[in-house]
This record gives sequence, structure tokens and C-alpha cells, in this order.
Amino acid sequence: MIDAVCTYGGERHTFSILKFQALPETDIEQFRQFLECPECKGKAYYRKRSSDGKAACFGSRYHIVGCDEGSPSTQREREVSHSLEVNQIIAGADVISIDFLLSKSIKKAKDKLSTYNKSTAEQTTASVLNPKVNPKPDISSRIDAEEKPKSNIKRLGLEKILNSLMRGSDLAQSSTLIELDVGYTFKAKNLFVNFADAEPSDSVKQAKPKMYWGTISHLDKELDWLNPSDCNDVGIPLSKYKSTILSHFNISEPRQLEGAGIIVFGKCFWNAKKTRKIIELWNAERIFISVLEE
Ligand SMILES: [Zn+2]
Repeated sequence: MIDAVCTYGGERHTFSILKFQALPETDIEQFRQFLECPECKGKAYYRKRSSDGKAACFGSRYHIVGCDEGSPSTQREREVSHSLEVNQIIAGADVISIDFLLSKSIKKAKDKLSTYNKSTAEQTTASVLNPKVNPKPDISSRIDAEEKPKSNIKRLGLEKILNSLMRGSDLAQSSTLIELDVGYTFKAKNLFVNFADAEPSDSVKQAKPKMYWGTISHLDKELDWLNPSDCNDVGIPLSKYKSTILSHFNISEPRQLEGAGIIVFGKCFWNAKKTRKIIELWNAERIFISVLEE
């Protein structure tokens, strides 16, 4: 995308990437959560120039099918195929069990190691191979052992779930039961919430955990807060789990997360002044980040 429409202050203003990147830092920070695709109005992001010289750019993870701005890429094709696959699973399964440690995400992190420097690679391998992170026992077989009626249980990892939500699969409106832990099931439509639709409780104690998803607009310099591009009143503190999450997804600078898709299990509540919704992460494992592949 060469241009993006900024809706800040209720006005529509088209910026070229050259104009936008020349704005004062404070304006950029203010405007970047109000960007959309000039053609399909999909929520868009701004990525600043990288330290190794990649140009600043606009983009969107939400282009509708057929939008000319959304140039086809293998990443987008994979997202669409995940969305179709999830739709098929919804149609056939009684229960979908979420596999938070599905080997694919871990394998992918391993594959990526080769492109990064060795010290980062060693750290990440250490976390991937951490003996504490054992694969969970097979949930479906355990349920069979408890003699539940022969319900049709499918397992899905967070990557496919996130991709399908971003690509508008039926999952967000589905009544299919989603099992998080053995015996804990929720209707999909009550579990998966886009950041823009997050309804905060008054306190963290009152909040029920849900799976919140969307895309990341930007982070603060210390990588302590994630700000979604889907809305501008939600903040996700990362600090507590920062090192685990960043090394697992191989992230070393904030720019890598600009425009990334994300799904987290967490609780949403108001901050003290009721000006901002906070989503507190449940732990460092129930999260998936779909970093942009360049
Ligand atoms: Zn578009």
C-alpha cells in the first residue's frame, strides 16, 4: 500500500507513505492506530524503517478478497487456506480442542532460527527445548477414557485459529464448542473476541478469561505494551512474560511486531481511570503471534 487513509478525529485524510513517515513522532504515534486501506477500508498498520534499512511502509492484514491493494503472498494464501480448513472443521466437529503446544508453531520457530544470529538462536532453542514445556497428554484420548459419548473432537492450534479469524472464517459466530482444558468448554462465539469488541470488567478479579485476537499496531520502546490496530483503547502489558514470548517468536525489535497478527488468552478489565482497557495475559504459552513474512 502506497497510501493509507487516516480517520483520526473523525476526518478522512489520505497519507502517502512518504508524507506519513515525515510526520513528527508524536503525530505518528497518534495516527497509526487510525489507518485503513484506501480501497477496502481494512484496518491497516504502519511499519517504521527498520534498523537494517528496510523502507517504512503501510499494510493491512485485513484486505478483503479481491482488494487490489492486497497483493497475493504465500502468507496470505496460507491464511485463506487455514480459514477454509477451519470452516470445514466447524461443520464436522462437535468439539474443537485447542492445542496450545501444537508442534507446528514450535517447529516454525526452530526453522526460523537459521536466519537469525547464533546467540539468539541458542536462547530460543533453549526455550523450545525447555523440559518444562512437555507436550500435553492427548486430550481426545483422555476424554474417550472418561467414557464421554463418542463426540467428534478435533484439535486445532492457535496459528490456524488466528489465521482463520483474521480471514473472516465462521469461527467468530460459531456455536461449536471449544475446549480449552479438559472439561472446560465454551461456545466459539463467546470465546473469541476481536480487540475492538472487548468488554472490560471493573476489575481483574471479575474478568472472565477469553481469547482476544487482532493485529498489533505498535509497541512502546521497551516492548512492554502491545497496542492493537483494531482499536485505540486497548493495551496489552507484555512485561511479565516478555523474554519468553519474544524469544519464542524470535522477536528482537519492535518493528517486527508492527502489523503482526496476535491471539492471546487473557482477562480484560478497565484501568483505574476507566480510560483504557487492559488485557492481562494468562501465561506465556496461551499466545500466538503471526509475524509478517517479508
Ligand atoms: Zn484493502
